[in-house]
Amino acid sequence: MPELPEVETVRRGLEKHIKNRVIVDIELRRDNLRFPFPDKFEKTLSGKKIIKIERRAKYLLIRLSGGKTWLCHLGMTGRWTLIGDGKKGVPGRFIHGAEIGSGSGPHDWVVIYLDDGGKGVYSDHRRFGIMDVFETEEQETHKLLKDIGPEPMPGSLTPEILSNNLRKRRIPIKNALLDQKIVAGLGNIYVCEILNRAGISPKIKAESLVLKKGISKRIEKIVFEIHSVMIEAIDAGGSTLQDFRGVDGDDALGYFPNSFVVYGREGQGCKKKSCNGTIKRIVQSNRSTFFCPKCQK
Ligand SMILES: [Zn+2]
Repeated sequence: MPELPEVETVRRGLEKHIKNRVIVDIELRRDNLRFPFPDKFEKTLSGKKIIKIERRAKYLLIRLSGGKTWLCHLGMTGRWTLIGDGKKGVPGRFIHGAEIGSGSGPHDWVVIYLDDGGKGVYSDHRRFGIMDVFETEEQETHKLLKDIGPEPMPGSLTPEILSNNLRKRRIPIKNALLDQKIVAGLGNIYVCEILNRAGISPKIKAESLVLKKGISKRIEKIVFEIHSVMIEAIDAGGSTLQDFRGVDGDDALGYFPNSFVVYGREGQGCKKKSCNGTIKRIVQSNRSTFFCPKCQK
């Protein structure tokens, strides 16, 4: 499943190649993905210029002329592939994978034709992706966007905000950090890494980290590690832009699998300096949690 850093990488790739292009035509090859396509979807998008591409949590927000926003969520297996016209040498593919995304593959559901002769292909093997179009000025009340918590980035998520959002939450901190209303876009793998780096047990109750007055050092540490892990993963994603495989999506394990400290390392030694603990796996809310019982108190 694409996590926030992967979605951000897709956003950057799309922005680089299709910003300022006009959608001259759009082809839908089925009626729905996870939900039906909105009414008059093709008509609304045709002829619109792509102004810029933004992101909120794991939603791509493609800003169009005429005050419209095209929302796209990649679900489990969504992929965008861009194909140049073969003559101008632009934009070329930036995400690729065998037949999928060629524009004639078995899971290529949406094709946009651009004014420079290139095209964009949205493929989605398992069809959990979501597309919608709405008035940009109504974003605050959009049903999918209105309840999302702060972005896990500097400038959006602060220790004060996290502290407030964890107040009176009697659930393990691991589960709290996966709640999109508390903080947006943190997936299972990244939360395991963040808690290990911060030296916090995944089992500790969220509310126990909150002080009556002021901000606890542990919350400051968690926020610092959320920012660091997200920035590192996005940077790692940028360097793999030309080579983003994992066609079926299920094997997309995030962007720095070789540097995971705890994830998928049950029974192996903790990588932290001066810790000789052994990584343990437990299940919380049906998700695997990997942690080091020795340095995560
Ligand atoms: Zn350890």
